[in-house]
Amino acid sequence: MTEPLYCANHPNRETTLRCNRCEKPICTSCAVHTPTGYRCQECVNAQKKKFDTAEWHDYIIGVGIASMLSLIASIIIAIIVSIIPFFGWIIAAGLAGGAASLISKSVKRFLGGRRSKKLFVLSTAGVVFGALPAVIFAFIFGGLYGILGQGIYLFITVPAVYYYLSGFRL
Ligand SMILES: [Zn+2]
Ligand SMILES: [Zn+2]
Repeated sequence: MTEPLYCANHPNRETTLRCNRCEKPICTSCAVHTPTGYRCQECVNAQKKKFDTAEWHDYIIGVGIASMLSLIASIIIAIIVSIIPFFGWIIAAGLAGGAASLISKSVKRFLGGRRSKKLFVLSTAGVVFGALPAVIFAFIFGGLYGILGQGIYLFITVPAVYYYLSGFRL
């Protein structure tokens, strides 16, 4: 009664699978296993696009804002740690949390809802990039507390910025 189905991409391959979105018959080698069931490659690509709306200038904005703000934050931490070495790193930890929130909020505002995983990863890399001058300075002149301060700053801001940007609330 049921007519045999043939894969849309391989007309000589009989199959029982259909894409659960567009109903197209697909063979096992064309089917993509997704959390919502088997789908054809076209539907998977279409779905991906929805979550990948960033344009080329968003990458410049994301990385630029993240590294600029991170540069300022890491310099402030370097100054605080050099004035009060011992308690400086405790203040650094508090400032890092604030900086992470400020950086991700600023990046998000400029992006206006456009997103992509690569954009979040690159913006987070911008945080590290922006802190580089202060980190290098700390290794040369900062001593133990200087290095500790920058270490704490990056240890807190890097994961926090990534999670904030990707929509994860800590
Ligand atoms: Zn499909
Ligand atoms: Zn096929």
